[in-house]
Amino acid sequence: MPEAARFGKRTVRDLELGDGERVLVRVDFNVPLEGGGVADDSRIRAALPTIELLLDGGAALILCSHLGRPTGRDPDTSLAPASDRLGELIDAPVHQAPEVIGPEVRRGAERLGPRSVLVLENTRWERGETENDPALAEELAGLARAYVNDAFGSAHRAHASTVGVAEHLRPAVAGLLLEREVTTLRSIVEAPERPLVVVLGGAKVSDKIALIDKFLDTADTLLIGGAMCFSFFRAQGKPTGDSLVEEEGVELARRALEKAESSDCNLLLPIDLVLGDRFDAEAERRVQEGTDVPEGWMGLDVGPRTAAAYGEEVSRAGTVFWNGPMGAFEMAPFAEGTRIVAEAVATAPGTTVVGGGDSAAALAEFGLEDDVDHLSTGGGAALELLEGKALPGVEVLDDA
Ligand code: ADP
Ligand code: MG
Repeated sequence: MPEAARFGKRTVRDLELGDGERVLVRVDFNVPLEGGGVADDSRIRAALPTIELLLDGGAALILCSHLGRPTGRDPDTSLAPASDRLGELIDAPVHQAPEVIGPEVRRGAERLGPRSVLVLENTRWERGETENDPALAEELAGLARAYVNDAFGSAHRAHASTVGVAEHLRPAVAGLLLEREVTTLRSIVEAPERPLVVVLGGAKVSDKIALIDKFLDTADTLLIGGAMCFSFFRAQGKPTGDSLVEEEGVELARRALEKAESSDCNLLLPIDLVLGDRFDAEAERRVQEGTDVPEGWMGLDVGPRTAAAYGEEVSRAGTVFWNGPMGAFEMAPFAEGTRIVAEAVATAPGTTVVGGGDSAAALAEFGLEDDVDHLSTGGGAALELLEGKALPGVEVLDDA
């Protein structure tokens, strides 16, 4: 990996803690649940280095996170399954609080011994969380002597548990995951090993237009796949059949094509496609030379020549950033393009960074999640950071 970008914030390594000192850590335990358990614990595992560092230092840890999008108390979004999973992963007692704040939580925090953990309930059970309510922030701050933010996936949101609390509690420092995410992603923008090859796919151009715009300025090659390529083809006046075309994206794509003409960045679109006669794993499937999609057919994956060409670009890159699958990879007949690109990313000699929930899911499905240099835990936060926006959850922390 090339040298990481400067972080500029104090981190958990700078904390000097007394034995049993209470530390409030904002983690990202926003994990998928299934049948009362955690369906994918990657985000919990990603928080372990910070949690273990603090516990080894003798801290009494109070963890908080949101999970899902509840707008009040909702037992289906309790953090209890995440606490249970954490308890299996670490060698320390893990207690689940019944609420986010309140007298019982305060008592639990006061009784908490060194090297043990109290997990607060889902921060979004409190309305004040998303409103960054100072009263909630102050309550949270009152539970501990120091604050650590390790929730990269929430760092782009100014909520009570990510920003407000730090205004009431110092020291306020970054966790190891937050630091690694920010420095790795920043180095892609600021000092990438060249050539920088960016692969963008997924469903909507509008989600990623700011990123396309940014990388047309900074990347050497930009490879477009996924349903978003049809907004580009529509903008070029090509027939797209029944493919998923985001209308709003067509004008954005047209402008990106225009910008690409005078940019040093090489913007590549698919040269062949895999079509289906409907959006279904059982659909009739055919490989289409060229990219004109006939009526009655939809483009559901990039074709083999495109996948090979993209894979070739990826293998020659000094740095690769990949976000968004190349096709509807959830259906096996249309997963090939995504698999070939994923394998190219996994075996590329350059630095490889992957962001986005579905791209991460695709890597996991192909068993390649450990073969990239950095798999970002934050979708929206990663995109905002790469677009060049400041993350409020990072800005608020103590300067180094
Ligand atoms: P990420 O979560 O990695 O950022 P997105 O959420 O932008 O990715 O997009 C992922 C979705 O795009 C997947 O559910 C995938 O099925 C869908 N998709 C990709 N290509 C196509 C296509 N050609 N037609 C329909 N859906 C597609
Ligand atoms: Mg997604």
